[in-house]
Amino acid sequence: MYQNGHLATGFGINSVGKIPLGLKRKGLRIVVTGGAGFVGSHLVDRLISRGDSVIVVDNFFTGRKENVVHHFGNPRFELIRHDVVEPLLLEVDQIYHLACPASPVHYKHNPTNVVGTLNMLGLAKRVGARFLLTSTSEVYGDPLQHPQVETYWGNVNPIGVRSCYDEGKRTAETLTMDYHRGAGVEVRIARIFNTYGPRMCIDDGRVVSNFVAQALRKEPLTVYGDGKQTRSFQYVSDLENMLDLSIGNPGEFTMLDLAQVVQETIDPNAKIEFRPNTEDDPHKRKPDITKAKDLLGWEPKVPLRKGLPMMVSDFRQRIFGDHKQDVA
Ligand code: NAD
Ligand code: UDP
Ligand code: UDP
Repeated sequence: MYQNGHLATGFGINSVGKIPLGLKRKGLRIVVTGGAGFVGSHLVDRLISRGDSVIVVDNFFTGRKENVVHHFGNPRFELIRHDVVEPLLLEVDQIYHLACPASPVHYKHNPTNVVGTLNMLGLAKRVGARFLLTSTSEVYGDPLQHPQVETYWGNVNPIGVRSCYDEGKRTAETLTMDYHRGAGVEVRIARIFNTYGPRMCIDDGRVVSNFVAQALRKEPLTVYGDGKQTRSFQYVSDLENMLDLSIGNPGEFTMLDLAQVVQETIDPNAKIEFRPNTEDDPHKRKPDITKAKDLLGWEPKVPLRKGLPMMVSDFRQRIFGDHKQDVA
């Protein structure tokens, strides 16, 4: 089992295969920190639907109760309002540690990545739980190697405006591996590349949510810099299907390409407005998923032009509250 790259391997999913035919799989007790957020809530849906018991730990910094409200009343679901920078005592089998302000507008002043991860690793060590960290492609910084493989160490400015996030996640990865080597905690690290889909925070400043919300509101699409920087966008179901296999979608788009897909999907007349880019913004980014394909047979299924419309209907409903007011 590969444990320390941006590949992460099967939690309950893999163990399902080990259960003799005819026996019912015993549900696991799983904590999902950040489970009221975008990625976390999709993961919770998946875990609940396969029969596990899920405790969501979230301080609602960017997450919303609406994302998990459909599980209220299910005895296998619990929601705890808690900031993971404070210690937490629970008895569980697995910990999916997602809690983290994941957008540039939110993450700058927050120690969640380091202190929160330390606490969740302390919890994993005490109860012998398996631990998964959702890390990020940001650990590669402004990459000098393209596309990025797991073994690439990255090019990160340690004192830049983004460092709280990228160095924070790098520290979180270090702590994770220290607890693995030093305390025998079973760990997984998933370096997630840009992911989009329904339930994304509407105003958290990420590019796909910005463009979609702007096009729906008939505002200009704000392209930072010259718009030639690239990213690879992954639809959330590819991540949700198996977070542990997820390392991003290798399709590569410039921000101008993305603006064009948003125009095609929502409003061909949507204007584009150029704005100064943020400091230290990575010029290009795209995962090399060879290892995931070879070892796990995983590859993303949903291309941008198919995934975006599914996100647009969710955003329409949340922005306008009513399908009748649809604009495009
Ligand atoms: P999100 O903002 O929707 O979710 C993060 C959740 O964590 C929110 O519900 C928030 O309220 C919660 N949270 C934040 N700080 C907390 C704290 N101190 N204590 C408890 N809860 C806290 O973001 P997301 O896109 O769902 O990201 C989830 C994880 O995936 C993060 O770890 C992020 O770094 C990682 N990731 C996401 C992407 C992406 O493109 N979405 C890319 C790379 C990595
Ligand atoms: N911790 C926690 N829940 C637990 C066990 C530990 O939140 O069930 C926190 C603990 O408060 C500490 C961190 O995790 O801040 C690291 O714990 P560990 O036992 O590894 O370190 P120590 O407390 O020995 O420094
Ligand atoms: N970006 C943009 N317009 C926006 C928001 C972001 O052009 O309204 C750019 C941003 O400068 C970056 C890219 O889109 O080059 C991706 O930004 P995001 O914050 O979504 O993700 P990350 O920087 O973490 O890849």
